[in-house]
Amino acid sequence: MMEKMFTAYLSIGSNKGEKKHNLNQAIDCLNHHKKIRVVAVSSFYRTQPQNFEDQDWFVNAALKIETAADPWELLDILKQIEHFLDKEGKPFRFGPRKIDLDIIFFQDLVLKTDRLEIPHPRMQERCFVLTPMCDIGAKTIHPVLNKTLEQLLKRIEKQQSQEVILLD
Ligand code: ADP
Ligand code: MG
Repeated sequence: MMEKMFTAYLSIGSNKGEKKHNLNQAIDCLNHHKKIRVVAVSSFYRTQPQNFEDQDWFVNAALKIETAADPWELLDILKQIEHFLDKEGKPFRFGPRKIDLDIIFFQDLVLKTDRLEIPHPRMQERCFVLTPMCDIGAKTIHPVLNKTLEQLLKRIEKQQSQEVILLD
């Protein structure tokens, strides 16, 4: 048994190759890690690319995990899995990638360093993060903005027109 377990939420996305398969592979890798247990998986969504729009659509999801790792250790684990699943890497920032794993929340921790920022600094602007997050934690409160995920999603749904389509 693992001693001290923390709860964290992750965002996961892919826009290269077999996208759904890539997500499932990453979820398997997380589950097989001795310090991680995946306790909830959202639906999968097909989403329009943001920032750099001239690229393929993404498939996005959100995960709730329990982990014995601290936030920096967790970031290292996520980077190892990204690297393991995508040997080629992405050509440039916001460019196409087989797998992107981000930490959205870690308990109600607030942390800001060059390497790691929690809560994820852009999550509140992203329908492709908030929509799947609401599947598994709609009532979870953002520790800085003091709003539930549901409230944050409502706020941007009115302004944005990013397409986020439920996959079967
Ligand atoms: P992005 O996810 O923004 O598309 P990357 O996956 O390449 O881009 O991440 C860039 C860097 O962001 C990572 O090397 C990591 O050190 C940093 N980072 C800062 N905060 C976080 C976080 N909450 N989750 C994941 N990475 C983070
Ligand atoms: Mg990332």
